[in-house]
Amino acid sequence: MADSKGIAVSSYFAEDLARLYEQSPLHVVLYDPQDMVRYANPSHCIDFAMARDVPISWSDMMRHSFANKVGAAIQTDDIEAWLISAKARRGKLPFRCFETDLRNGRWMYITETMDEQGWMLSVGFDITALRTNDRSLRQARDGALRAAQVDTLTGVSSRAHVLEQLDLRLNQLRSNQQPCGLVLLDLDYFKKINDTYGHNAGDEVLQRFARLVVSSLGRNDGFGRIGGEEFLLLFPQATPAETEAKVQAILELVRESSPLPEVPRFHHTCSAGLTMLDPALSSIENMRNADRALYAAKGAGRDRLMWA
Ligand code: GH3
Ligand code: MG
Ligand code: MG
Repeated sequence: MADSKGIAVSSYFAEDLARLYEQSPLHVVLYDPQDMVRYANPSHCIDFAMARDVPISWSDMMRHSFANKVGAAIQTDDIEAWLISAKARRGKLPFRCFETDLRNGRWMYITETMDEQGWMLSVGFDITALRTNDRSLRQARDGALRAAQVDTLTGVSSRAHVLEQLDLRLNQLRSNQQPCGLVLLDLDYFKKINDTYGHNAGDEVLQRFARLVVSSLGRNDGFGRIGGEEFLLLFPQATPAETEAKVQAILELVRESSPLPEVPRFHHTCSAGLTMLDPALSSIENMRNADRALYAAKGAGRDRLMWA
């Protein structure tokens, strides 16, 4: 490898970088595409009270942080709901940054850089001493961004945010031939659920459904609510067979779920329309293809998937 000035980047480079990360007060964490921590430097491990040699996922690191009051200051009374909305924004776009506070009172500025293979480098630096007077302004801006990117009822990506992810995947397909599965999911006979059990129960079914789907997804998969009981899924780098297997697994999870605790005998299903992103088509046209397949799945009896 050589940089733009022609200076050779030798294999020592990685060693030098690693040695400096070991000494740095920055929080440096490398996550693999499954969101397992592959490297965390001492500064991060100390603040999160983490053992360095125990494999841990980002979700479990956050659960540990919440339960033991270390690391990130997570303001919630439901950590699982917090995780869903945090995941709606995590690893979806090539770069993002935000401010957050730690349990020890320090403020950190976190940057997250993703590559197309789904690896993520997170670098955080201490901004406790910086510009405290406009912190509330920056927090308000991040809150507004979160409100735009996360669906209020279910906590998954909003329509706008998942469509932004669709455009990103389409561009990656055009520039680097990275395939991507696109899926439209629609709950079956949802109007009947509302009519039989009430609108609140319908809302609860939507929330449980979203939670179930999130539990089966990888960090870089896209999942957003695009309408009342319609959802869009994106499976970057998945083959058609992988896309189909993931959707079959979701249909199965939904079929076996019992989302209304007060009505344990209640079960429901959903239908799916699948397509592989076509670089020659616009995002709207790709969605239209998936929608036609969804319509066919409904016509064929529901609780099934169809390819465009
Ligand atoms: P199909 O199997 O053909 O999809 O039938 P369906 O009844 O699910 O389809 P339809 O699209 O006709 O009905 C969707 C219903 O979802 C209509 C609307 O009242 C309801 N709905 C939309 N948004 C919400 C919501 O946020 N909460 C609740 N509880 N219901 C919603
Ligand atoms: Mg519908
Ligand atoms: Mg429906």
